[in-house]
Amino acid sequence: MVLLVNEKPGAEAAERRKFFESAGHRTYTLATSRGSVLTVMGSRTEEFEAFAESHDEYRLLAPDVPYVLASRKIKDTPTVVRLPNGAAIGGSDLAIIAGPCSVETEEQMMEAAHAVRSAGATVLRGGAFKPRTSPYAFQGLGVTGLVMMRRAAEAYGLAVITEVMDSDDIPVICEYADILQVGARNCQNFSLLKKLGRCGKPVLLKRGMMTSIEELLMSAEYILSEGNMDVVLCERGIRTFETATRNTLDISAVPVLRSMTHLPIVVDPSHAAGTWKLIEPLSMAAVAAGADGLVVEVHPDPERALCDGKQSLRPDRFSAMIDRIRPLASMVGRNLSL
Ligand code: PEP
Ligand code: MN
Repeated sequence: MVLLVNEKPGAEAAERRKFFESAGHRTYTLATSRGSVLTVMGSRTEEFEAFAESHDEYRLLAPDVPYVLASRKIKDTPTVVRLPNGAAIGGSDLAIIAGPCSVETEEQMMEAAHAVRSAGATVLRGGAFKPRTSPYAFQGLGVTGLVMMRRAAEAYGLAVITEVMDSDDIPVICEYADILQVGARNCQNFSLLKKLGRCGKPVLLKRGMMTSIEELLMSAEYILSEGNMDVVLCERGIRTFETATRNTLDISAVPVLRSMTHLPIVVDPSHAAGTWKLIEPLSMAAVAAGADGLVVEVHPDPERALCDGKQSLRPDRFSAMIDRIRPLASMVGRNLSL
């Protein structure tokens, strides 16, 4: 795989894009420190070499990694995913994404939205289509849940993230959500990933229980290669021999990914730990390791939660935790809103 990179931003980009696309190549506009750059991807090395030789503004790049578009070798400035409510993931702000595992009732979502917003979160989470191990367990409220979540988010100025399990649901989820989440179980569902590459909304991609860091980047590459550059990676724990926690949080994934990719990296301590008592130390570790944000399950009444109550924080505990994270965040050069 080689890339032809136009280093002169803006120059005849639209026409060039058409020219390359009509020749059957994929083109991308990447925001780099030099401005937005037109990148053409293909495998016809000689043809590209000849083009680069006769066009000064173009340079041929042959990254030695398979995750070409996700790689720092093609883009060395961090990607910042911007959300309609003004929040960003990947910039100097520490993004706090919080809310219940599942949307249950309008009241529950209103309470959750109020609680997480007042503690400093900018994105409300909640599942409407749930990937449950058992087909007999609560499967989520579907579109009714999306409506409840959107209402609650609007009331408190929050953006919405929710999981998409089935590509048939992409259009309706796009109507209500600002970020589409791919759960750990679908991390390597390549046909879903390709469709999300064309959905026009940011995607948060969770690491699969058994995917390596390189495999996670290859999954992200499926989304990027369809033209969607707004991808956030999420470490949520992997399966190991250890049984003391639900999964093992791979904290080293944060600095390792940082060295490999320009994409934002967030950590979900809730699904890693499986118990609320470990959320704070794992969150602290994630922030210290350089994560761009946290995904935390918060429920107004964890004991009565229909899903993942054991690992959900009560609002008062969540708020106290965020207050303790604040000084640590500023030590590592991050701001927290509020
Ligand atoms: C979730 O975020 O609710 C979820 C199901 O997470 P994971 O895909 O990481 O298990
Ligand atoms: Mn959950």
